[in-house]
Amino acid sequence: MAVPKRKTAKSATRSRRSANMKMTAKTLVKCSNCGEFALPHHVCAECGHYKGREVIAK
Ligand SMILES: [Zn+2]
Repeated sequence: MAVPKRKTAKSATRSRRSANMKMTAKTLVKCSNCGEFALPHHVCAECGHYKGREVIAK
């Protein structure tokens, strides 16, 4: 069975974790119906519209 040749250094582990766990601001798009900010590819939380039609009655 293959075994890692070297122990992963603390700095390498921490550097990888900090890069992968980085917090980034969520991407927001403007709702085509009401102009509120909404998550892309999601029904608008304010008016319930998606792709130009009402999906959830508000
Ligand atoms: Zn909307």
